[in-house]
Order: sequence, then structure tokens, then C-alpha cells
Amino acid sequence: MAFISLLKLFDMHYISTRGHTARPSFSEILLGGLAPDGGLYLPLTYPKVSGAELDAWRSLSYAELAFQVLHKFATDIPDADLKRLVTSTYTAQVYRNCRAGDDTNRITPLRTLEQANGQQLLLQSLSNGPTLAFKDMAMQLLGNLFEYTLQKRGTELNILGATSGDTGSAAEYAMRGKQGIRVFMLSPHRKMSAFQTAQMFSLQDPNIFNIAVDGVFDDCQDMVKKAFLDKSLSHHNLTSANSINIARWLPQMFYFFFAYKQLKFQNRPLIFSCPSGNFGNICAGIIAKKMGLPIEHFVASTNVNDTVPRFLERGNYEPKPSKATISNAMDVGNPSNFIRIQEMYNNDLELFKKDFSSYSYTDEETLETMKSIFKMDGYILEPHGAIGYLGLKEELKIHSNAIGIFLETAHPIKFLDVVEPALGIKLHIPTQIESVLNNEKVSKKIKSYDELKAFLG
Ligand SMILES: *Cc1c(COP(=O)(O)O)cnc(C)c1O
Repeated sequence: MAFISLLKLFDMHYISTRGHTARPSFSEILLGGLAPDGGLYLPLTYPKVSGAELDAWRSLSYAELAFQVLHKFATDIPDADLKRLVTSTYTAQVYRNCRAGDDTNRITPLRTLEQANGQQLLLQSLSNGPTLAFKDMAMQLLGNLFEYTLQKRGTELNILGATSGDTGSAAEYAMRGKQGIRVFMLSPHRKMSAFQTAQMFSLQDPNIFNIAVDGVFDDCQDMVKKAFLDKSLSHHNLTSANSINIARWLPQMFYFFFAYKQLKFQNRPLIFSCPSGNFGNICAGIIAKKMGLPIEHFVASTNVNDTVPRFLERGNYEPKPSKATISNAMDVGNPSNFIRIQEMYNNDLELFKKDFSSYSYTDEETLETMKSIFKMDGYILEPHGAIGYLGLKEELKIHSNAIGIFLETAHPIKFLDVVEPALGIKLHIPTQIESVLNNEKVSKKIKSYDELKAFLG
């Protein structure tokens, strides 16, 4: 008995940003969203990784590295089970690299774009998952973790979400065919791109339900919010798949570690630039740093939705309604994870500024960058990655001798309508996408909340 309780001391627990007394374990927060007091969960403590351990990890594959990191956080899942789940997620079949020439370390390959004056500028491509956006990196694992945990508990779960494109398809491709899970995804009727619509509506899995709402994205979002508060739906065990849930972005830590292990010059300052919307991605990087990964500095690069850059400049946090841009996956006026970042820095602005910069860019600057990178290197960047590049360039001005990495969060084919006219080219359509475009598309059209309720049953 004493031995067991001693072991429990080493279990990882999570705490609400609002300080609720409950200290749930990983499996418990996995299936829930908000904490009971309405706060967001963060780890209670940060497991440490030593330099020797980091060195030993250099020889690991993506899946092996992912296991080493995750088992420090998911202490209530037996190691053998966790290893199996991680191994079946991070395979070269799931993360097929759509770009020619990157066949080593193919899950999140690094590519040097510029090298001069002792500095190196690289991109890390995260868009090789089934929906060609970086949200697959965590979502695919989430699908396997959900299925496993639900089976252990003998329960079922219904995911209800609203999407304007990327999140919805990543969630559906992660959950399709999974036992005990159904996905109800609301999207604005005829408002998504042809590509996004095809990607979602061509799925014919019996546990995936695409619901096309007669309205705009905000109407979808309002219906979802209403459903979560609706007591008459509580028997459905509804949950969301957005980055309110820490398990939705915790697996994004892996690629920061994986980038580090691929670098040859370890003793130079390392800077990461993340194209940021809800700031889940950069939260994952901050946790990796807290664990001991030697990251010198972070750049949160945004489009004109500049709530965080303004905060860093003026010290007050003033969210604004979002503005539409060509990097639309980052059109967020009030980033939901920012409260977590403030908490991780003890609400100390000076401490935060030491590690963190944030810059904002217009659509014109984004397009100019896409053009100049294409001209210089032949590399086709989409708008989100281009903003990541711009933020990194700015920060490198004040860090001589640094290695800078920006994250490429989507494949250009997802933003074909922007990329093709900007660069004056025709994009090659990857084969797995071609079939999707040609398949039959199915969705349920609804006009009102009552119709949604009737559909959920
Ligand atoms: C979601 C998304 C982002 C923003 O990521 P956050 O974790 O919300 O900051 C950036 N680029 C693309 C393509 C995305 O889909």
C-alpha cells in the first residue's frame, strides 16, 4: 500500500488556470474540456529533461521520441499501451510527405532556406498529415487516445464542433472509424473553399456527420455553444475538439524536440517562430522549453489580428473582433490559449518579454514574401508559413549567430485560391487529394438550432 501511494506521488496532475482544487490526471482531462470552474488546464508541474537525455534522444524515431515525451505527462496510461498508441499514430503511411525530395525524417522535415553571416534560417514542415495541416500532428494521436480511454471506461463520446475548414477536417480524419466516438461538425453552407468542402463532405464513415448550416461561421459557433449549455442534451456526453483541451496541443511538443534532434549545431541559440491564431502551438513550445529543451526565444507571428503584438507593446490585453485575412486559420481576435501563456509566465510581462516576441503582418506583406521566397528558392509557401517566416526574419535581426526555425502549418494546396494567382503557377494536386475531390459529397443541411437538436436525437 505504502509503495503504491509513493508511486502516485510521481503521477502527473493538471490544474485549472482559475485554481480549482481538483487535480485530475491526463485521462480525465483528455475526455473533458474546461475545468469545473471554467478555467483551462495546465500541468501542475513540468517534468524535466536533462541534457544527457536530450542527447540520447537524438537517435530516436519520431514515434519513439513522442513516447519519451508523452509518458512524462500521461502517467496514468500504462507505458506499453501508450507506446502502442503512439507508434500506430506516427507512421510514414499516416504522414505521407507530399513534397518531393524530403524522405529523411519525413514526418516533420527541416529545410534550410537561408544561411549567411553565421545565421541559419530553416522551415519545419508540419503539413504531411492526412488533411495537410499541422493540426493533424496532435489530432491523429487524440483519436487513438480517445478510443483507448473510452474503451477502458466502457463509455462513448460525441464530438460537437464548428469549423470554417481546417479544424473540422483534421478532427474528422482523426476520429473516422474510431469505436465509441461520433463527430458532428457544423460548417457554414457554401462558405468553405471547394477543397475544404470536398475534404470533409467526401467522408462516408458511419461515425462522421457533416452538418451544413444555413448561415456564417458565427452561426455555427453559436449553435455549438448553445448545445453545450443545453441540459436536455447532456445524455449525449458532448465534448469539443478545440485547443481549449490541452490534449489537443500537448502532442505538438514532439516536433520542437524533433527539430532539435535534427540540428547539427547544438550550441547556438535556437529561435522558433509560430504562425499563431489561438496560440496552442506556441504553448506546446513553451512547455518543451520549461522541460529543458534549449529554446532561446519564441516569436508569435500573426496576421492583422494583432491582439498579442499589441499586448507586448503596450502591456494591456484588449481583444478585438477578428478580421478576415488570407491566412484565415489565424483570424482570431481573442486567442483562447493566451491565458495559459500568461499563467506560465506568472503574469510577469518582463519575464515574458525575455522569451517572447510577437509581430503582425498584412496580407500584402504576406503575398510579397510568398513571391520572394518562390523567386529566391523555388519553394512554395502558403500564407500562414509566410507570416512565420516574416516574424523569424525580424527576430533574427537581434540574434546574431542564431538558428531560426519557422513552422509551416499547412500545405499550399489547401490555400490554392491564394497561392496560384500570387505565384502565377498551377499547383500539382497530390494523389490522395485528387480522389477526395472526385468522390461523392454528403452533408445534412439545417437552418435552426431545433433542427440540430432533432438530428442529434
Ligand atoms: C490552426 C492553425 C494555425 C494557428 O495555430 P494556433 O495553435 O491556433 O496558434 C496556423 N496555421 C494553420 C494552417 C492552422 O490551421
